[in-house]
Amino acid sequence: MMEVKPDIGFKRELIRMSGSQLNQCMQCGNCSAVCSLAPADRPFPRKEMVWAGWGLKEKLIGNVDVWLCFQCGDCSSFCPRDVKPSDVIAAVRQKTYMHYARPRFLGKLVSKPAWLPVAILIPVVVIVAILSLAGTFRIPEGPVNYSEFFPHAWLNATFSGITLLFYMLACWGLGSFWNDMKRLTPSSGSGQQTRIGPKIFSLLGEILTHSNFSACGSQRTRKTAHMLLFFGFGLLILVTLYAIRASITENYPLSFLNPFKIAGNLASLMIYCGLGIMVYQRLFNRSIFGKSSYTDWLMLTSIGLLTLSGTLVEMARFGNWSVAYHLYFFHLVAVWFVIMYLPFTKMGHILYRTTALLYARSIGRK
Ligand code: SF4
Ligand code: SF4
Repeated sequence: MMEVKPDIGFKRELIRMSGSQLNQCMQCGNCSAVCSLAPADRPFPRKEMVWAGWGLKEKLIGNVDVWLCFQCGDCSSFCPRDVKPSDVIAAVRQKTYMHYARPRFLGKLVSKPAWLPVAILIPVVVIVAILSLAGTFRIPEGPVNYSEFFPHAWLNATFSGITLLFYMLACWGLGSFWNDMKRLTPSSGSGQQTRIGPKIFSLLGEILTHSNFSACGSQRTRKTAHMLLFFGFGLLILVTLYAIRASITENYPLSFLNPFKIAGNLASLMIYCGLGIMVYQRLFNRSIFGKSSYTDWLMLTSIGLLTLSGTLVEMARFGNWSVAYHLYFFHLVAVWFVIMYLPFTKMGHILYRTTALLYARSIGRK
C-alpha cells in the first residue's frame, strides 16, 4: 500500500493560491453531489477537498480527476461553508504544472511574479544572441523588411529548434504525469485498460466541440470565449506554419489579400473577442471564475500582447513605421512567452487536460 505523508507546506500553498478557508470544510459532500461531471464511482471534488485539507500532495498531484473538472463553479456556489472547492482544484492544477516542469526551474519561472524579469530576459538575450550571430542586429535602412532584421532561415531554424526542445522537455514531464496517474488511479470495471487508439477520436470530438463546458453547467459565454480562443489560436498556428513554408518556397511577405493573411487577421479578431469576454468575466463575474491568480493574468496578458504586437507588426510593415523593428522584436519575445513557455504556464492545460482525459478514457473513467 502506498504511504502518503501530509505536507503542510503544500496545504498552505493551496490556501494562498485559492484563497480558500480549507479548514472550514465539513466534508458534507454537497460539492460532489452538485457536480454534473463527477463519475458515480469515487466522485469529485469532495475527496480532493479532504486530501487538500490534510495536505496530501502525493494523492492530488497526478490525480486524474482534477482534470475532469472544467471549473464551472457550481460546487463553490453550493458549498455551505464557502470553501470554494473549484478554486482549490484550480490551485492543484497550477501546482501540477510546476511539479512536472522539466527542469523544475521552468515551472517557477512562469508561476511567480518575482521571476518575471528573468522570464523576459531569457528570450531577449537568446534573440539578441541569434541576431548577433546572424550579423543583423541593427535597424535596416529603407522600406520595412523584417527578413533583413531576422533572416528567415535563421528565424525558422532557431525558433523551430527551440520550440522542439521545450516540447521535448514537456513530453518528459507529461510522461511522469501519465505514470503517476496510472499509479494513483486504478482502472474501473474489469481492471483491464482499454486500447487508447479508438479513444483518441472521441476525445478529439469532445475537445473540438467543448462539450464538457455545456455538460458542467458553465455559462454559455464561458464556452464561447474558450472556443474563440481555441480556434483562433489553432488558426493562427496553421497560418504561421504556412508562412514558414511560404518564406522558404515563395515570395514573402504575403500580400494583404492573400487568403492566409486574411485567415490570420480573422484568427486575431477571434482571439481579441475571446480574451475580451474572459477578462470581463474574471473582473466582473467572480462567482463563476473565482479568484484569478497571477498565472491566469499572465496567460491572458501574454496572449493579448502576442496578438496585439502581431497586428501592430503587420500595420508597421504596410505603413513603413519607424518603430517597426522594435515592435517585431517585442512580438518575438511575446511568441516565446506563449509558445515556448506554454507547457509550464496555465496554457499547459491544453496538454495536461488532454493527457488526463485520454488516460481517463483508457481506464473507463468517464
Ligand atoms: S468543500 Fe464545501 S460542499 Fe464540499 S465537502 Fe467541503 S464543506 Fe461540503
Ligand atoms: S467546478 Fe464544476 S466541474 Fe469542477 S468540481 Fe466543481 S462542479 Fe464539478
